[in-house]
Amino acid sequence: SWSSSDSVISTDSTGEPAGPRGPYRVVLLGASGVGKTAFASIFAGAADSMDSDDCELCVDEVCEKGIEVDGEPATLTLLDRWDAETDSEWAQENHMQTGDAYLLLYSITDRASFLRASELRITLRRFRPAQHTPIILVGNKCDLVRRREVSVSEGRACAAIFDCKFIETSAAMQHNVWEAFHGIVRQLRLRRESKEA
Ligand code: GDP
Repeated sequence: SWSSSDSVISTDSTGEPAGPRGPYRVVLLGASGVGKTAFASIFAGAADSMDSDDCELCVDEVCEKGIEVDGEPATLTLLDRWDAETDSEWAQENHMQTGDAYLLLYSITDRASFLRASELRITLRRFRPAQHTPIILVGNKCDLVRRREVSVSEGRACAAIFDCKFIETSAAMQHNVWEAFHGIVRQLRLRRESKEA
């Protein structure tokens, strides 16, 4: 007999996202210290969510919540805490393969993290050869103007080369962080529409 839980949408890592509303798996990638944890806590917090509850389902490094983008609901599952420096190769590859979309973070105050983002983009292309996997290159910590090591135009040029979107954010000031998540949802919707067409 069918219980209500049988109708729960499958989110296994090999399947396509189940519907236009998700849940979509979004992976945060980037060197240590660029702001992945800060991004995840803004996501998990109440700001800008449809309801004022905290994260609906947060287990270990995974947080799932519903947000509204352009008047339409979408559910995002955020996968966080991927650590380029300490995680095993298996864990890294697993992360590279499980996302529907990726936020590729660097810090504008740390050129090495910018170079790391380029390396990660190349690795990602190996695991995600599909052309329309949404990726946004995120230059975080844009509040730290005096410590800037990577210019806006360098970030933009890098994104153009890597065929992805670009945004500068400040998790500390909560500036553009939701814009990045919304951008991911818009790209996921566009991709879905082009597949259905
Ligand atoms: P992670 O290693 O990528 O998870 O990086 P964290 O989120 O732990 O951030 C590393 C450090 O940078 C912490 O001390 C954060 O408070 C700080 N940080 C993160 N985002 C920003 C930001 O946008 N601006 C500033 N000034 N500091 C930030």
